[in-house]
Amino acid sequence: MTNKDDTTSVNDLKEMMKKFRDARDWGQFHTPKNLVQAMSIEANELMEEFLWKTDEEIEDLLKQDDFRQTVSYELADVMAFCLNFANVTNIDISQAMNEKMIHNQEKYPVEKSKGTATKYHKL
Ligand SMILES: [Mg+2]
Repeated sequence: MTNKDDTTSVNDLKEMMKKFRDARDWGQFHTPKNLVQAMSIEANELMEEFLWKTDEEIEDLLKQDDFRQTVSYELADVMAFCLNFANVTNIDISQAMNEKMIHNQEKYPVEKSKGTATKYHKL
């Protein structure tokens, strides 16, 4: 099965969002504040799909096409606003991810954090 993530760059996705925005003249609404609020709202829509369900129920639901599609589209909504936010703030997502993971490696060294969900300040 082909996987689009294997052939699509972050920049491809950022450009997709710019084209969509500019064709509709929505740049005027894409302030950093509006975009982070929309990002959070969409994250909550994604979270709502899991509300009141047990881990076992969710495991079963994730095997069903209709639920997978709903969750995939909500994830896409979250990602769309992340990409829009990166576009208007000129944040290089790959650079930020790389730097943040270096920090995370320092905060969570494997020898202290392996197999535990303890927060870094209590390790
Ligand atoms: Mg949504």
